[in-house]
Order: sequence, then structure tokens, then C-alpha cells
Amino acid sequence: MPVFVNRTLNMKKIKLIGFDMDYTLVPYHTDAFEGLTYKMALTKLVDVLGYPKEIHRQQFDLQRAVVGLVIDRRTGYILQLSRYNKVKTSYYGLDQVHYREQDRIYGNMTIDLKSTDYISLDTYFAISHGVLFSQLVQLKKEGLDLPDYSTLEQDIRDMIDLIHRDGSLKREIKQDFSRFVIQDEKTAQVLERYRAYRKQLMVITNSDYSYTKALLDYAINPFLRHHTSWEELFDIVITLADKPLFFERTSRFLSIDPATGLMSNHEAPVTSGIFQGGCSRILERDLKLKGNEILYLGDHIYGDVVSIKRRCNWRTALVLGELERERESLRFSQPIQRQIDRLMDQKDHLEQRINTIDILSYEGTKRDHQELDELYQDIDRLNEQISSLIASYTSYFNPYWGQVLRAGFEESLYAEQVEKYACIYMTRVSDLYEYSPKTYFRPKRRILPHERDILLSTLPDHE
Ligand code: IMP
Ligand code: MG
Repeated sequence: MPVFVNRTLNMKKIKLIGFDMDYTLVPYHTDAFEGLTYKMALTKLVDVLGYPKEIHRQQFDLQRAVVGLVIDRRTGYILQLSRYNKVKTSYYGLDQVHYREQDRIYGNMTIDLKSTDYISLDTYFAISHGVLFSQLVQLKKEGLDLPDYSTLEQDIRDMIDLIHRDGSLKREIKQDFSRFVIQDEKTAQVLERYRAYRKQLMVITNSDYSYTKALLDYAINPFLRHHTSWEELFDIVITLADKPLFFERTSRFLSIDPATGLMSNHEAPVTSGIFQGGCSRILERDLKLKGNEILYLGDHIYGDVVSIKRRCNWRTALVLGELERERESLRFSQPIQRQIDRLMDQKDHLEQRINTIDILSYEGTKRDHQELDELYQDIDRLNEQISSLIASYTSYFNPYWGQVLRAGFEESLYAEQVEKYACIYMTRVSDLYEYSPKTYFRPKRRILPHERDILLSTLPDHE
């Protein structure tokens, strides 16, 4: 799969390449990982918080949530936002909210994600959160005794947080890596190639050292050709980094002894080794690097991409596994999209004709009512055809939410963040295998609305 470019990025100028670990260096089978998180969180809701046992009857449905959605803690709705922070699709429990109802509640609102009323699903680790929330809201609607939406959301978040932190989730994952982890041979080769080109390499992960070691031993070591272990590839490994705070505040590094896993205060400059905690400010200072000499790749749109661009001047790359399926669906659905575009053009012409008749009557010409009736009937017919085509177009994508990067016809808020904050983006780290470490990534020129008809009409297949 190609690497997609938003901003010019000259790899020759990059001296240090940092990687997030979970879902970036190491992809997971989301269905298995989030399915397990979901099951364990349900159990905790019952055992720790005393939720009714009936909630155990729910089954995990991966499709119910996608990255980029937003939970409204006041109404219990899950929202998909456009790039203008407007609600484009919403679900209340498992039911899609009718357009008119959605418009009544959100029509005049621009959603302010800084408000604590809203929680964004920024990573695949949040899919189980979205699925659980929608299913429990549904049960509440059906009469099960559950807390108000805001408490419900907080409880789900707390229980997911608990199983991530208390080691119970990771214990299960470690016992059966082959069920949860995707091994990608080429990732190891990309890393070895960067090494051969004398790039410094680094990992910054929120996972702890013992999990990081076990996971990288499994995902990287078997595929190395010129090294024996991932430890030889990375100059710096930072665990329990606490991103996004890692990029936002000042905090000291602790040094980890790889032989024992024991920690000690680290007083010397941070130039190589395995660490816990710390912050980007000290790292840049000790490595004597400028922000734009560092490239960081991550999957968390906020913690790995937006916060870096806002706080440091590092170059950024987003890894979005979902893109692979989305591009395939786009390819298959193109003939339908072209039919929709054609019908929309016809509708435009008919509407223009109605407006012309209107202006003429305003200027004194008698209205032709028969022509007007026919025009309205034609528009109704077109609307029906367009609706049914849109339904079959959407069936190629997630049945509830459509595309991650679109909200209806507009770009989604998630797409806006990708475009604004990620210099490049790709489906997986190994996509870089096709590119030399000296590549100059250049964006294609974007077509603006006022350029579109002129530029497209000069393309050969439009002549
Ligand atoms: P990274 O992507 O390599 O930075 O690692 C993400 C880490 O965050 C993994 O160890 C996850 O288990 C952990 N994580 C994901 N979601 C949560 C959460 O809600 N609470 C605590 N830890 C989380
Ligand atoms: Mg990650």
C-alpha cells in the first residue's frame, strides 16, 4: 500500500525515527483484542460496580464502533462529526437517530471537544468502549436499571482503564500472542534498513517494560536478518511514557536495567538505553536534535499525532490500519459513486431550470405550471434513485458508520485531524518498505473548488 502525503517530508533530513509500539510497530487483530477487553470490562462492571448480571448476555460486535466517533455523555448518543464539528450521523443505543431528531438536538451546535461532555474514540483501544456504551444505552432504553449516561460512560471507561492497568488484560494477551498479534515480517526489515542508513531509532510507548520486551521479542526478533534482537536496533526505548503528557510536561527519566528490569534515577544525558517516563523536552535537549529532524510514527490521532504537532515541532506519521479495507471498498464502490455524481448533476440542472422559471415570472413572464410540475416530479424520481444508490454505496463500508474518513459527503473530523496534523499516513509501518530511507515525500497539489471544473476538463478522459 502506498504512503500518503499531506506535507513535504524529506527523509534525508530526518536523523531520529521514533515509533509508538501498540498498533504501530506491532499491529493487533482488533476483533480478538477488543473482544477480550469487552468481555473483561463487562465482568468488572458486574463484579466491581454491581451492574446487573443481565449485561453478560451481550455479544461483542466490532462494527458498532469505529475510530473517530464521539460519545455525548449528556444525551447518551454516539456521534460522527464532520470536519466542521457538526453532527452528521448519530446512534442512540443500537438505533440510528432519525435525521429530523438529530437536527433538532444538534442542528445548531458545533461540538466543542474540549468540553468534558464529549469523549472521543481516538484509537482502536477505544472500540470496546464505544461498543459497550452503545449496547448498555440500548439496555437502559429497554428498561434495565442502569445509571445515567454520564455515569455509565465513566464506569465503562474506568473498568477498561482498570484491566489495562492491573495487568489482567496483558496477562491473557501474553499467554496467546498468536491469537492477538499480527506478525509483519517486513517491519523488521524496514527497521534494519533504516539502521543501515545510520538513522537513530527509538520507541516511545505507554506500555510497561516487561510487556514491551515480550511483545517485541515475539513481533520483531524472528524476522531480523542482520541482528539477533530488537534491542540492537533501537538507541532509545521509552516505556510507560504517559503520552500525550510526555510531549506536554517536564518529567525525569528513570533508567531500566534490561537484565533485571529494575529501575534507577537517571542523571546522565538521555542518549541511549531503556527508560521509563521522561519527556520530549529533555530528550531533544540531550540528543541535540531540532524538532524537525525527528519523525514520529503512531496510531493514536491525539496522543501520537495532534499533541506532538501542537507541542513539539516533530514531523509526524499516522498509522491507520483501517485504511486498507476502506480503500478496497472505495475501489469496488466507484461505479456507484459515479452514478450518484451523474444523477446529482442532473438534479442540479433541474433545480436551475426551476430557479430560472422563478426569475422569469418575477420579471413578468407567465409561469408554466405544467413544466414546473414535471420538473418537481423528475426531481422526486431522481431523489429516489439517489437514495437507493447511496444505500448500496454505503453497504460497501461499515454498516453503521460508513467511512472513517468521511461523514456523509463531507470529510470527517478525524480526516481533518489526519490532514492537518499528520505529515504522512499509511496503513502499517511496513508500507515504508517500498520507499528508500532517502525518499522525498511530496504531496500532490490539492484541487480547490474554484479550480475543479477547469482542471478536470483538461484531463484526457474528460475531453
Ligand atoms: P502505545 O500505543 O505503544 O503507546 O501503548 C498503548 C498502551 O496503552 C498499551 O499498553 C495499552 O494497554 C494502554 N492503554 C490503552 N487504553 C488504555 C486505557 O484506557 N487505560 C490505560 N491504559 C490503556
Ligand atoms: Mg499505539
